[in-house]
Amino acid sequence: MKKKKSKEIQIVNDRPVWPPMKNQIKGAVRRIFRLSPWMKLSLQKARVEKPKVLKDGTVSKKPDVYYRCAMCLGEFKQKDVQVDHIVPVVPIDKTIQEMSYDEIVDRIFCDLSNLQVLCKLCHDIKTKNEKKQGR
Ligand SMILES: [Zn+2]
Repeated sequence: MKKKKSKEIQIVNDRPVWPPMKNQIKGAVRRIFRLSPWMKLSLQKARVEKPKVLKDGTVSKKPDVYYRCAMCLGEFKQKDVQVDHIVPVVPIDKTIQEMSYDEIVDRIFCDLSNLQVLCKLCHDIKTKNEKKQGR
């Protein structure tokens, strides 16, 4: 027999009580972050231009643009890099549920010195290490 889990929405002070949706809200704030000057300025700092030689041997007026990974120092196309929070948004000794919305927003839109450009591989390694350390 299957028990039906009826999720009744509780209303307190004329507001629905939300299930914990902090992860989704963090994701939404991150998406806004990607469109922000924080993102643009971080990418600018890592930007490397290289002269592009065309098939006929001449140099293109438009250089090739790469971004230098702060960890492996490799140069990558923009689609292969990510702007990383050096000190992670969710501190190692905390869970997202223990953070206030203000804190989440403030830690995503952090000081520019806390941002670095990483290639996808280095970013994956860093994220995995952070997950191992905490929780
Ligand atoms: Zn890298």
